[in-house]
Amino acid sequence: MGRTIIIGLDGVPFGLLKDLADRGVMPNTKGIISDGTFRKMFSSLPEVSSVAWSSIITGKNPAEHGIFGFTEFPQNTYRLSFPNFNDLKTPAFWETNHSKRHIVINVPSTYPAHELNGVLVAGFVALDLEKATYPNSMLEVLKNLNYATDVDSSKAHESIELFLKDLKRTNEARIAVYRELWKEEWDTFMFVFTGTDRLMHFLWDAYEDPDNEFHEEFSSYFRRIDEVIGEIASKINENDTFLMLSDHGFEKLEKDVYVNRILKKAGFLKLKNGERIDFSHIDYGTKAFALDPARIYVNLEGKYPRGSVKPEDKESVIKGVEKLFEDLKENNQKVIKRIYRKEEIYKGPYFDMAPDLVLLGSKGFNLKAGLTSERIFSKGIFTGKHSWDDAFLLVNRKNCESLIPENPNVCDVTNIINLLTERESSK
Ligand SMILES: [Zn+2]
Repeated sequence: MGRTIIIGLDGVPFGLLKDLADRGVMPNTKGIISDGTFRKMFSSLPEVSSVAWSSIITGKNPAEHGIFGFTEFPQNTYRLSFPNFNDLKTPAFWETNHSKRHIVINVPSTYPAHELNGVLVAGFVALDLEKATYPNSMLEVLKNLNYATDVDSSKAHESIELFLKDLKRTNEARIAVYRELWKEEWDTFMFVFTGTDRLMHFLWDAYEDPDNEFHEEFSSYFRRIDEVIGEIASKINENDTFLMLSDHGFEKLEKDVYVNRILKKAGFLKLKNGERIDFSHIDYGTKAFALDPARIYVNLEGKYPRGSVKPEDKESVIKGVEKLFEDLKENNQKVIKRIYRKEEIYKGPYFDMAPDLVLLGSKGFNLKAGLTSERIFSKGIFTGKHSWDDAFLLVNRKNCESLIPENPNVCDVTNIINLLTERESSK
């Protein structure tokens, strides 16, 4: 009976993986690409890790699994909460098959760890290593390997060198944990690299520019990951199903765009005066507000504490917001590529929790909902941003094209895995 091995590379776009494989930075990956099936994959909307990984591990869309972003307002509040694994409304694939043993390492949004037949070490956002680990007996192993659930990105604000040092340290500890857990008995092994996303946020410019002082550092990080991919590939046999995938893509960040500033300037958002502006300052008269990265909610009467839009006026508010963002330009460039209404992208029992609109930025425009910025457009420390339409899926088999949709979506992954494993076991 074959096993299933899934390697995740958080945020790695199809184009970058292909480029690094073609240029010899990732020779093992190149081998897998030439032997297997390699497709672009659509991420979730919004294109953030918590939503996309929740779809990957459940096979469901946000209105079914209940995770719409890294932040949420609990019912009838303007208090930011941070949904975690306890808020996932449908089981992850390892929770639906108890007869098999699963090893799950560093999948984002699986904190706090739940009981399973196997081992789980939760990925970001994971606040406490003990709560991130199941079973508890694994905790000693992780501590001995100096395991950390995430890189300390605040170091990048001190210096890029310090950040890179921490990035490598956390990566090596993660690799040591994978090697340790590989020795266990298992049927499914899922292992996600998340430092890739952090590296690309801070150093996308170094990737694109061969003369950048960190260009070689950028490549060497991926070279190291490719070594591990080669190591794993050498351990699998012909009955095993081996997949690599990412949750969203990446591209160059030209400008940060503050969506709530735009809503405020146009009169859709009213804030009470306060020294610290935050979401608790949303005032009467607010027609719409945004949560990260660009989920827009109509401030409906009865739904929110200072709800100011009557149900019969909702459609005109939505139309007004659509017009505002359709027309938005910066240096003659359209800022918003597409505006999705909730009905177009979500379907399921938690549809009512969904944002009314989700904005997708044009190339280079990084949409943000934070209230602290004074300006609509600015540029911070990040040089790379998420993209929606160029995550990737790579399967180590030549003759499985028919099982994989032409344009796969993150929601298709569990189904693809099931089809591949069924086919193997029926051989
Ligand atoms: Zn990211």
